[in-house]
Amino acid sequence: MKACPFCDGEAKVRKHGIFWFVVCTKCKAHTTYASSEEKAIEKWEQRTPLSDHSWETLKSCPFCGNIGIAHDAVWKKHVTYCNKCYAATNNYKNRSKADEAWNMRSII
Ligand SMILES: [Zn+2]
Ligand SMILES: [Zn+2]
Repeated sequence: MKACPFCDGEAKVRKHGIFWFVVCTKCKAHTTYASSEEKAIEKWEQRTPLSDHSWETLKSCPFCGNIGIAHDAVWKKHVTYCNKCYAATNNYKNRSKADEAWNMRSII
């Protein structure tokens, strides 16, 4: 399996109930749920090359190339996520930390 697109960390497949997902053991970035282990790995591996959107503060999604990156804050836990494939960062205490995590992707 490929390394994490954000921090180059090691990725692991995990199961949650009947769903599978891939999560980075270092920065905890993760894919959305998939119905099988293979599909979860497929999502993780579908990373697109880094595109340069210098007019944007946030980099495009490493998984689907989408530039529509959004934020969410629930109970003071901030995440930055892709509004197309819903790949997300780990939870952070503030928005800038979540954005920072999102932008920490390594060049493929
Ligand atoms: Zn990572
Ligand atoms: Zn995406």
